[in-house]
Amino acid sequence: MGDSWNQVRINPAALKNNFHFFKNRADDKTRVMAMVKADGYGHGMIEAAKVFASAGCDAFGVAEISEGVALRQSGIVEDIYVLLGCHQENVAKYFEFNLVPIVFDIASIELLSREATNRNVEIGVHLKVDCGMGRIGVVAEEAVVLKQRIDQLPGINFTGLMSHFPISEIPADVSSADVKERFTTLCDALGNPESLLHIANSGAVLNVPGSSFGMIRPGIGLYGYYPDGQPGLEDSGEEHLIPAMSVTTKILQVKRVPAGSGISYGHTYVTQKESVLAVLPIGYEDGYLRALSNRAQVLIHGKRVPIRGRICMNLCMADITDLEGVCSGDEVVILGTQGKETITADEIGQWAGTISYEVLCLLGNNNERTYTKQS
Ligand SMILES: *Cc1c(COP(=O)(O)O)cnc(C)c1O
Repeated sequence: MGDSWNQVRINPAALKNNFHFFKNRADDKTRVMAMVKADGYGHGMIEAAKVFASAGCDAFGVAEISEGVALRQSGIVEDIYVLLGCHQENVAKYFEFNLVPIVFDIASIELLSREATNRNVEIGVHLKVDCGMGRIGVVAEEAVVLKQRIDQLPGINFTGLMSHFPISEIPADVSSADVKERFTTLCDALGNPESLLHIANSGAVLNVPGSSFGMIRPGIGLYGYYPDGQPGLEDSGEEHLIPAMSVTTKILQVKRVPAGSGISYGHTYVTQKESVLAVLPIGYEDGYLRALSNRAQVLIHGKRVPIRGRICMNLCMADITDLEGVCSGDEVVILGTQGKETITADEIGQWAGTISYEVLCLLGNNNERTYTKQS
């Protein structure tokens, strides 16, 4: 237990369960790239990667080279893919730390070729194609040009092709079939038997049949959340995802205020009757978004109670008028389970007008993390 009032607890057994959930959904030959960008979606990149590696994970995906370097230095020996490219100043790191570049432009292909030739080595790269995501990656016609350039240049080898789905979290969305179709066509045109093909995020593994190809790239699901924000199959007895993060704080002060008291900046809440408030040492600096003001609930003594008034930088107020015997120092659950009640990142996301992904990143990366012992 650390010194901060606010504690993020990560359950490695849940991470492990979630890894196996995805592994079981891929066929034997399909590899798994665990997406551990954004410090493992707030769960700690290195700690999460170690859990996944020990569960049999084949590869890891990060956004930037610096993350790949940190992962390699932590002792991860599996493949590490860097999604967001390189520049002159950091290109050497791919070679020094054995990272796999994802490429999407001629300039970086030429840069990598020069660096490889100078070092008298070869480097394998994966090409990122945009098959309908409308984000990073080259369109089909350009992919052919880039592939030719890779084939022409010394020191650089084409080893894989990847793309990404825009709406795979919605099972009925028709775009996924089109995206998969375009990717398949490109794979047939550019791929060779050795190249690794991958397009499936968590949503695609769950909802887009036949999208696993040579490797899957789950992210959010590994941390226990369904990408569509639905609770999943917890009560069905079937294998399901388990949220790995919980966030707690402690009551700093309990105070009784009369009817008609304005609460916090702007007095956006005024008590209707004599009320008891619990002052909590968590605010937007800790990732507890100001957008949650007058909307969120927290768990105290196993009951849901509302946040009243604006959430400040380091403080907010919960209304405990209906609870008996609450004292300063009592535990407050911001995210997770207390007694029979559970607050999920999906629920917090709905209150704040965002998604579980952002809630996990904000709470996880702005507070002290501890890890429960692995079972
Ligand atoms: C983040 C990311 C993923 C994982 O997506 P989830 O929805 O979290 O499963 C997969 N592929 C790419 C390219 C990504 O950026």
